[in-house]
Order: sequence, then structure tokens, then C-alpha cells
Amino acid sequence: MKFEKENRPFIGLIIYMENFIVSARKYRPSTFSTVVGQESITVTLKNAIKNNHLAHAYLFCGPRGVGKTSCARIFAKTINCSNISSDFEACNECESCKAFNENRSYNIHELDAASNNSVDDIRTLIDQVRIPPQIGSYSIYIIDEVHMLSASAFNAFLKTLEEPPAHAIFVLATTEKHKILPTILSRCQIFDFNRIKVEDAVKHLKNIAEKESVSIDEEALNVIGQKADGAMRDALSIFDQIVSFSGKEITFENVIQNLNVLDYDYYFRIVDAALEGKVTDVLVMLNEIFEKGFDGHHFIGGLSAHIRDVLVGKDEATIQLLEVSESVKQKYVDQSKKCPVDFLYEALMILNQCDVGYKSSQNPRLLIELSLIQLSQIIESKKKELV
Ligand SMILES: [Zn+2]
Repeated sequence: MKFEKENRPFIGLIIYMENFIVSARKYRPSTFSTVVGQESITVTLKNAIKNNHLAHAYLFCGPRGVGKTSCARIFAKTINCSNISSDFEACNECESCKAFNENRSYNIHELDAASNNSVDDIRTLIDQVRIPPQIGSYSIYIIDEVHMLSASAFNAFLKTLEEPPAHAIFVLATTEKHKILPTILSRCQIFDFNRIKVEDAVKHLKNIAEKESVSIDEEALNVIGQKADGAMRDALSIFDQIVSFSGKEITFENVIQNLNVLDYDYYFRIVDAALEGKVTDVLVMLNEIFEKGFDGHHFIGGLSAHIRDVLVGKDEATIQLLEVSESVKQKYVDQSKKCPVDFLYEALMILNQCDVGYKSSQNPRLLIELSLIQLSQIIESKKKELV
């Protein structure tokens, strides 16, 4: 069985590409203050500009889609702006800013090392580095996925990195910091980008939805934020995909259907039924889940995660760890009050055994059913122990 259902066909995507500007591009941040979820980095970069303490080489590390290239571009634009604002943002109005915003600035050079990783590619870049900029003060060289450069390309680059001309600034970006040679690391100021918190992604999407007059509730946005798993770029493209399928009135159901996410309501209901020992109800719900095309192994993983979240919901201090909307958080708190800790521990153990045995099982469905029956008997067997 496949882990998840296949994605929807591409027809819808083609239609919407004609009608919409992809949100990721339209809402690309244009100033430091509009970068989502990377405050400590943008503040540090602004301070460097303020104090005129620019390094010659920066290394931006972090997962994909979290704003590394966007920050590099904003940084490049800001240090070349001729009318920089009092809070050290680019004016977006001077000739240099306009050139940047229209992608025609000569002060920025981008190399994607994933596809241009040969020594010749780097030599071409090094030749450019020597030429001072005609307008503005700095030429910025962004090398994306820099860990992909070949060893000889790295070596060729190292010399330039050691003695760069005064006008040149390198911003190296990578998703895999551990693959960067120490000789490069030691010459760069290193910035570690965070994965985007669900909360931040939701806030940003909410803002965009308002601007695009799309009506979508917070719980639906939360599902998108969770599915994007820390990448703002993914959150935006998922949002676009859903707008293209569902139009401008988007419900929670639209989102979970589109993303093949199992409605978490099932998990709440299954745990409630298991607490009361209602085996039949639990098995009927499981059948519904299978009929909707969800994969069993995926379901067991989801139920384990749910029970972990209920456990987390037992404590005021840990409840904040849940990346869900306030109303759903309350549901967890309510359910955790009903669940004895023993029940949760035992449930986690049962589900873990099911998870481990799943792949080697001849009849995985029966395995899940048995596990759910065990789950529904925990409370009853505890009572017997006490007698
Ligand atoms: Zn400007």
C-alpha cells in the first residue's frame, strides 16, 4: 500500500497558472521587515548595515524554502540603495532599488551551484568579480546550494574568497552545512535560518488571503502550515494549489481533501470511543478511514502523533509545544483531562508495536484492528486489575 494517495492531476495547475500570479512570487518579501520568521537574522543584517560592518562572505544555512535567497537579495538591494531609510531598509524607489526589483540590476549575480558546479563555472564568476560595479557600491554574488560545487571548483573559489576586491560580497547558501569545507566555513559569517513555525506561516497566509479576498479559516490555514513542514515557499504553493481547486471560498474540508490529510476529528473520536470501550464504534471509524483511501500505516503514525499530543496537552507548560490553532488546542486539553496517563502510555506502546510489525505483517489491516481493540480494552483491564 502506498503511504498517501497520489496527488491530484496537473490540469488545474495549468489553468490557475494563467489566472494567478503564484503567491510565492507575488508576495516575495521586498524588505527585511517582510521576511517571515527570521527576525534574529534580519536584525543582525540590519545592524551590520547600520554599523557599516559588512563582511565579505556570508554563509546562509538552513532548510529549503525558508528565505535564504530572499534575504540575500534584500541584503544586496539594501546595501546598494542610495536612499536607505532610517530603520535601514531599502527605499524601493531609487534607481538601484528599481533595478533590483525589476531583476535588471548589474550589482547582483546568482549562480546555482546545483547545475553549475564545474571549475569553469566558478572561473567565469571569478572573472566577473574583478569588475567594479558601475552604479551602487557593491556587487553581490549569491551562490546557491554551494555544497554542490566540485572539489576543484571549491579550490578555485577559495583564492577569491581569501582576497576579495573591496566591492565584492559573497553570499553562499546551503541546505547542507556539514558538506561545506572548513576552509570555507572559517572565512564566512554564518547565519543559521530557522524552519518557519506553523504559527508564523499561518499569520503570513492569513495576510495574503485577506489581500486576495480569499476566505479561509484559521484551522484550514493550520493544516497548510503543518503540511508545509517549516518551508514558507511550500506553504505558499500549497495555498495557491488550493485556491485553484476550490476558488476563493475555502473550507477546512476543501483543504484536507486536497492535501489528503486525515481530518484530526477522527483521532479525537477514536480516542473518545476507546476510552469508553466502544470497540464497534472504533472499528466502524477505521473502516470509514480505509474507504476514504487512507493508508493504514499512515493512520497508525497519525494516531500515535495524536496521542503524543494529548499527553503534551496534560501540562500547561508543554501545551504551548502544539503547533495548532487555539480552538484545536482546547480540544487537546479537554481530551487529555479525560485520558489517564496510564492509558496514554499503554496506547503509545500498543501503537508502536503495530507500527514496528506493520511492514512484515501478512494482514496489516487485521493488525491495526487488533491494536485498536487492545486500545479499547485498556481502561476495562485496568479496572479488573484493581478488583
Ligand atoms: Zn533605494
